[in-house]
Amino acid sequence: MSRMAGRRTPVSLPPGSTIGIVGGGQLGRMSAMAAARLGYRAHILTQEEDGPAAQVAAGITCGAYEDPEALRAFAAAVDVVTFEFENVSTEGLSLLAELKPVHPAPKILAISQDRILEKSFLNGAGVGTAPWAEVTDAASLDAAIAAIGLPAILKTSRLGYDGRGQARISTPEEAHAAFARLEPKPLVLEGFIDFACEVSVVVARGQDGQIASFDTVENRHKHGILDLSFAPARISEEAAASAQALGRKVAEALDLVGLLAVEMFVDRDGSLRVNEIAPRPHNSGHWTMDACPTSQFEMHVRAVAGLPLPPATRHADAVMKNLIGPDDMALWPEILATPGLIPHHYGKAEARPGRKMGHVNRLFPKGSLPGPFGITAALGPLGESA
Ligand code: AMP
Repeated sequence: MSRMAGRRTPVSLPPGSTIGIVGGGQLGRMSAMAAARLGYRAHILTQEEDGPAAQVAAGITCGAYEDPEALRAFAAAVDVVTFEFENVSTEGLSLLAELKPVHPAPKILAISQDRILEKSFLNGAGVGTAPWAEVTDAASLDAAIAAIGLPAILKTSRLGYDGRGQARISTPEEAHAAFARLEPKPLVLEGFIDFACEVSVVVARGQDGQIASFDTVENRHKHGILDLSFAPARISEEAAASAQALGRKVAEALDLVGLLAVEMFVDRDGSLRVNEIAPRPHNSGHWTMDACPTSQFEMHVRAVAGLPLPPATRHADAVMKNLIGPDDMALWPEILATPGLIPHHYGKAEARPGRKMGHVNRLFPKGSLPGPFGITAALGPLGESA
C-alpha cells in the first residue's frame, strides 16, 4: 500500500530517551526544560560549557558545529536530533542525519538560512513576499533599484539576524555605499513595505502530517530586535485567519516535522506577505509558555519525538516583553516584586547591550487584551517602553 506524501507512521520515543539539541542558547534551554517535563533527557551540542541550555540539560557535547568528531560523539549520545538556531552548517546537520533522525530536515534549515532560497521557495509555493531581487554586483544593484524602486532594504542573503546585515536605502548613492559595506555577498534588495503591523504564526507539524498552529500574534521591534508580542494580534479576524492559512501552507510545502515560525507583514489593506521563516522555536512564541496548556517548546519536543500534537489552544490573552541587555536586567528585582509579571531568566552571566537575557509574560482574561496604555500600566517597571 502506498503512503500518502507527508504521512509517515510516527515513531514515538519512550520516556527516558534522549533528545539531541544543536545549539546552546535560550531556545535550547526552554526546549530542554519542556523535554524534561515529558520524561526525556536533553543533550546539547554547544560551544559554551555553561551556556543557557547546558545549565539545564542532562548532558552536553562541547565542540564546534562543523567538527565531525564532535558531531559523531553528539549523535552517539542521542536518539533524535533537532536544532535551536539557524547558523548551524547544513553539512554538519546532514552528517548527523546519516547517523540519527533529524527534525526538521536539513533541507528545511538550508532554505531558511538563505534569503534567496527562502524567497524563491515561498514564491514557488504561491506565498507572497516583498518584491525582491538578487544583488551580486554594481550592475545588478542598479537593475534591482530600477525594477523595485526606492525606498528599499538591502540585506545579506545569509547570516543576518535581529536586524543585523541590512540597511535601509533611500537613494542610489546610499545603496552603493551599503553594497560595499554589507558582507557576505550575495545581497537581496527588497521593496520597503509600509506595513500596518508585523505578525507571526508558530506552527507545529508531526511526523504523521498533523498540524497544531498557535494563534496569530503581533510583534513590535525596537532597534531591530523583538521587543513585545501581543497575543492575539490586534488585526481583523480575516487577516488573522489568512495568517493561519499561510503558516499551514508553508509548513506543508516544506513537509515540516517540528516547529516553524512564519513572520509576516500585514499591509494597510489587510493583505499579508511573508518576511521570514524559522524552523525552530521562536521568540514571538514565548507567550505560549504561560498562556497555553501546551507551549511552543513542548509542541516542538512532541513533534520531534513523534508524540501526538494537542490543539494549540490559548486560555488567556498575553503580552510578552523581552528583557534586553543591562538596562532591562537592572529592573529584575522590581520585575520579581511586581504581581502578575511572569519572569523567565535565561541564566546568561553577562548582560551585554542588545543581548536577550530573559522575557516576561503578562496574562489577561481571554478577550480582554488592553490597549497600549493598559499594556504600559500592566507591565509595571517595564511599562515605559510599551
Ligand atoms: P528581518 O531581518 O528580515 O527579519 O528584518 C528585521 C526587521 O526589519 C523586520 O522585522 C521589519 O521590522 C524590518 N523589515 C525587514 N524587511 C522589511 C521590508 N521589506 N519592508 C519594511 N520593513 C522591513
